Amino acid sequence: MCELATEATYVHHHKQKLVLVLSAMRHFARELRQQGFKVHYVTLDAQDNSGSFFSEIESVLARSGCQHVVLTEPAEYRLQDQFRHWQQQHPQWQIDICEDDRFLCSHGSFRRWAQDRKQLRMEYFYRQLRQEYGILMEQGQPAGGQWNFDRENRKPLPANKVMPTQPQFMPDEITLDVIKLVESRFGQHFGSLESFHHAVTREQALLQLSHFLDSSLPLFGDYQDAMRQDEPWLYHSLLSTSINLGLLNPLEVIQAAQERWQQGQAPLNAVEGFIRQIMGWREYVRGLYWLYMPEYASRNYLNAYRSLPSFFWSADTDLNCLQQCISQTRDYAYAHHIQRLMVIGNFALLAGLDPEQVSRWYLEVYADACPFNCLYWDFMARHESLLSQNPRLGLTYRQLHKMDEEQQQVLQQSARIFLKSLDQTD
Ligand SMILES: Cc1cc2nc3c(=O)[nH]c(=O)nc-3n(C[C@H](O)[C@H](O)[C@H](O)COP(=O)(O)OP(=O)(O)OC[C@H]3O[C@@H](n4cnc5c(N)ncnc54)[C@H](O)[C@@H]3O)c2cc1C
Repeated sequence: MCELATEATYVHHHKQKLVLVLSAMRHFARELRQQGFKVHYVTLDAQDNSGSFFSEIESVLARSGCQHVVLTEPAEYRLQDQFRHWQQQHPQWQIDICEDDRFLCSHGSFRRWAQDRKQLRMEYFYRQLRQEYGILMEQGQPAGGQWNFDRENRKPLPANKVMPTQPQFMPDEITLDVIKLVESRFGQHFGSLESFHHAVTREQALLQLSHFLDSSLPLFGDYQDAMRQDEPWLYHSLLSTSINLGLLNPLEVIQAAQERWQQGQAPLNAVEGFIRQIMGWREYVRGLYWLYMPEYASRNYLNAYRSLPSFFWSADTDLNCLQQCISQTRDYAYAHHIQRLMVIGNFALLAGLDPEQVSRWYLEVYADACPFNCLYWDFMARHESLLSQNPRLGLTYRQLHKMDEEQQQVLQQSARIFLKSLDQTD
């Protein structure tokens, strides 16, 4: 196992993410050793850290006389490309690259599903996986007579609802060491380390899972799309880091949620909604990534080239929703999917921010009134020729056309003024 500075800096990862990954690696190495495995571990600050995966593997092979390398396929195109290249350059060794079991659908299965389809709809992909794995199925039919209970999952959050608390995993000695290391080596990266509380071991991840199942799953569906001021977690599970790191397997999480429904401890709309995020969205987004990379990363369908404003790093903005989402991201390295999608993602879309510039958040912006409304309608008007045929946008365009000419002009004029202010804050 090898800690590489280049992996921490090829983009400037949030400091909590660096601590999470390095601490989880160190804890895992310790567990393996306790189980009797021989682990060769190169720390970031080791004097002989060569700075490259390949030279580290080669030096182990040279020292041990091993001829056979078994590794899991990297989760990023960039690394997979490097590893395939390295594999081809070294026919003298047997190098087996195994599929990543942190996902349920292999690249090949996704490609076969996508082949010859005019549209790649997440919903159909998700149904197929449900059938394949027999999740929420009853005699070949979806449990409850329908595949998707999203209509029941859009309830507004009552003002007096008290949110569940979240387990706080206090940093142990290993994590404290890593915190010091990250602060000294990557102190200039985005994020605060004060509130580091992520699960870094399987034991902690299992605690997080059972806490979620007990305290949040029953209402996960009802308030899945909700947001509330100063409430970063709501009924979300906080399990993405553990699933991504491999501390939890996605199928065990899905089955644990299914079991709660089978035992009558959580309603179907909640359990289906939760399972759809993992079995549906998580697998589907990953499938698209591998299907379309490497050109996927540079697609820019709407020709958006505006650079990101600096409040993406500082959270210093009068736009309250963005301020909340970005400051929570700085403090916890977390935002739930509605914040990522509806607030930050929508802002980027509506404001025409360059999709490739996600790491360049250095512009600063000042705005006095919430511009989402005018940005939204201006965006729709600007892209009408491209978007109006989309069946999901029919209602939106009917609403736009119902507005009188003057109203449309006011909205577009306000949007232009706001967008200009973004360009002028460099
Ligand atoms: C613009 C954008 C960027 C995102 N970037 C990432 C990312 O880099 N890494 C990442 O793991 N997730 C990403 N997500 C998905 C999602 O926002 C996070 O997984 C989720 O917020 C993590 O919080 P949670 O574990 O409390 O999720 P919960 O709401 O409790 O959901 C349960 C699980 O379902 C999966 N999930 C939930 N929502 C989504 C979604 N929209 N797409 C895919 N999987 C989902 C995750 O594994 C999550 O742990 C992104 C979503 C959006 C809209």
